[in-house]
Amino acid sequence: MTGMIINGKTGDWEVICGLEIHCQIISKSKIFSGASTHYGSDPNENVSFVDAGMPGMLPTLNEYCVRQAVKTGLGLNAKINKYSEFARKNYFYADLPQGYQISQFKYPIVGEGFVEIDLEDGSSKKIGIERLHIEQDAGKSIHDISPTKSFIDLNRAGVGLMEIVTKPDFRSPEEAGAFLRKLRSIVRYLGTCDGNMDEGSMRCDVNVSVRKVGEDGYRTRNEMKNVNSVKFVMQAIDYEARRHVETYENGGMIEQETRLFDPIKGETRVMRKKEFAHDYRYFPEPDLLPLVLDDAFIQEVKDEMVELPDAKRRRFVAELGLTPYDASVLCEDRKTAEWFEKAARGHDAKKVANWMMGDFFAMLNEKKISLEESPITPENLGKLVELVTTNVINGKTAKDVFAIMAESGENPEKIVDEKGLKQVTDSGEIEKIIDAVIADNQDNVAAYRAGKVALMGWFVGQVMKASKGKANPGMVNQLLKAKLDGK
Ligand code: MN
Repeated sequence: MTGMIINGKTGDWEVICGLEIHCQIISKSKIFSGASTHYGSDPNENVSFVDAGMPGMLPTLNEYCVRQAVKTGLGLNAKINKYSEFARKNYFYADLPQGYQISQFKYPIVGEGFVEIDLEDGSSKKIGIERLHIEQDAGKSIHDISPTKSFIDLNRAGVGLMEIVTKPDFRSPEEAGAFLRKLRSIVRYLGTCDGNMDEGSMRCDVNVSVRKVGEDGYRTRNEMKNVNSVKFVMQAIDYEARRHVETYENGGMIEQETRLFDPIKGETRVMRKKEFAHDYRYFPEPDLLPLVLDDAFIQEVKDEMVELPDAKRRRFVAELGLTPYDASVLCEDRKTAEWFEKAARGHDAKKVANWMMGDFFAMLNEKKISLEESPITPENLGKLVELVTTNVINGKTAKDVFAIMAESGENPEKIVDEKGLKQVTDSGEIEKIIDAVIADNQDNVAAYRAGKVALMGWFVGQVMKASKGKANPGMVNQLLKAKLDGK
């Protein structure tokens, strides 16, 4: 994949994009206090004196948040820095009572790494990770309750964040979209962030610039803050890149500014210009010691790592014989992948994958239920596939059995037994049915023999119907053709 090229009046332009993603760390308590991180509590229910920025309160680092950040760093194939420091990022805002955010600046906990993304044309690309640092979240200002007042909810203040910064490696909106989906999949596998962009637990800042194809270096970039869905990130990149090209081609210049993406209009507008850019006056956080990790700690976290989506996908292809596409669909979500593996154990994995991606996902969609709520267990889907593979039932009957399973949750073997759905593979029995159909339809037999061979399909249908769908279709075809052709 060569990326997105914009053909302008003055030549071809390429898109340059980098992302900064804030991921809320999954932990029971906040990163520097013991207050709960529970989402959906009453306003200001989960606020300690530290979170409220009371004078003289001291932050205490939550070890579990450090563990989560290291685990995420390992999942990004990144260097874990044994030495890191906290720094104060100073700015004034009503939902930041301390007057500064405790973050990391010069010495982040995680250094360079990479994430492999899979593109639609089947190719893959490595996206560089610049760093990952940990910091505290701010509270929320609420402006839409009263026409005259704003409210502050500090429940989120102090919740742990991982800020992940990529290198400017994206060359198209699709690449950025593939990266966000992959990142979300990785943190969900690891259990370090729930990855819900619509709830704000994963928030994305998008940096975009353009340059002529073949040009060295980078031109001025614009940043779009807090774009809250994969689709909007892709739209924002596309819109912004075209705006840059148009500006340059009309003799204008791009100023460094922060812009807002408006999802309703599908465009960006200026939020603040560079002359108002923040100078955060970072300085070392005096209330926290530098963070020093030893090898044993890092090893402990490594030992807790689960198999990640890339490794799982490769294994599904190599060991289970799935196509790369099927494997990547099934591996995007860990629970789906584990469900599939359970269903496929001891059975034809490729057929199980087909059933799962076809009828099974369609059933979940139709019932609007999640995998966990499925009436069909993985073991029972495996058994159903086995019944077809071993010719106990035919494919058509399997669909009927599946429909019954989706309602009752029953074992397919039991359904087949109780309803007498076993496929008829006794050629004598099938021949009896064929003879009856032929005897009842002499005019069609004559027409077939006179050259209307398309009637074959009709005859097969009649025989299948007469067998109540239980005849083995391959045998029906073979025996029927022999009889009709008079052999
Ligand atoms: Mn940040």
